[in-house]
Amino acid sequence: AKNAGRNRFSYFTPDMQVEAERRLRLTSDLRIALPGKQFQVCYQPIVDLATGQICKAEALIRWLHPERGTISPLDFISLAEDTGLIVPIGDWVFRQAVQQARQWRGQFHPSFQISVNMSPVQVRQDSLLCARWSDYLAREGMPGQSVAVEITEGLLLQAESKIDEKLLTFRRAGIGISIDDFGTGYSSLAYLKRFDIDYLKIDRSFVQNLSVDEDNQALCEAMVVLAHKLGLKVIAEGVETAEQRDFLKAVGCDFAQGFLYSMPVPPDEFELLAWPRLAE
Ligand code: C2E
Ligand code: CA
Ligand code: CA
Ligand code: CA
Repeated sequence: AKNAGRNRFSYFTPDMQVEAERRLRLTSDLRIALPGKQFQVCYQPIVDLATGQICKAEALIRWLHPERGTISPLDFISLAEDTGLIVPIGDWVFRQAVQQARQWRGQFHPSFQISVNMSPVQVRQDSLLCARWSDYLAREGMPGQSVAVEITEGLLLQAESKIDEKLLTFRRAGIGISIDDFGTGYSSLAYLKRFDIDYLKIDRSFVQNLSVDEDNQALCEAMVVLAHKLGLKVIAEGVETAEQRDFLKAVGCDFAQGFLYSMPVPPDEFELLAWPRLAE
């Protein structure tokens, strides 16, 4: 049967076949991952550059595959998008983040905020997503500001995504809105004014080589000035060195996130990192 298949699809190279089989297997594994409790949410600290305090975190999903070990979201989010599984998986991450925010706001810091990634596909496929997430917060008695959603620039430019209405639902609920990977997409500065956005996240590619790359220095500084003029706060992503941190602080960037502070970690490790004395 395999040979017959090969002959019929002779344009299908062996490499493509291997890749297709891998995706097929991973897809069937992905279907049972949520009921099988194979996902974990890790949290990466976001530091206030003025005080050096951890005041926010980004929720990042991990798949602890029973045979393959930990699988990066880069290797399964697109599969989840293609199969529609991104909707229940995304809801699960959101609810985890809300419960985590509840615990950490209560135990450690009353204004702690956790941000959650929203894939464009998720927003487009699921017209009720924003209403459902807002309702969940209300039902749980959690203030909107306890979470923020991270969206990419591309989404704001898609007329068919009805993004205006959707973001308004979040806005009314008080949920924070961040533009992720800023500067890498089809940037249109007009949307920064049109939509009511709270945070601009400077993509890691601009933060790299900050100490030697004068173009990146100019770009980072310009993004901070632009964002502040429009009333947005700035989070720099991928901060790995003290030099990068110092430069960003000097140009007035508000928050920083990156391996300099910590990789994304499970909740118990996060507590030791963020509130070492309180966690004892
Ligand atoms: P992202 O939203 O841009 O998340 C930041 C990524 O950069 C994370 O990768 C993080 O571990 C990594 N990172 C953080 N600091 C540094 C640094 O200093 N240096 C370097 N080189 N990398 C750093 P991760 O966790 O593998 O996630 C990859 C992407 O997968 C995310 O990119 C996001 O687009 C997506 N993703 C992760 N979790 C979710 C989720 O729950 N839902 C959706 N829809 N997408 C998710
Ligand atoms: Ca993100
Ligand atoms: Ca990002
Ligand atoms: Ca990025």
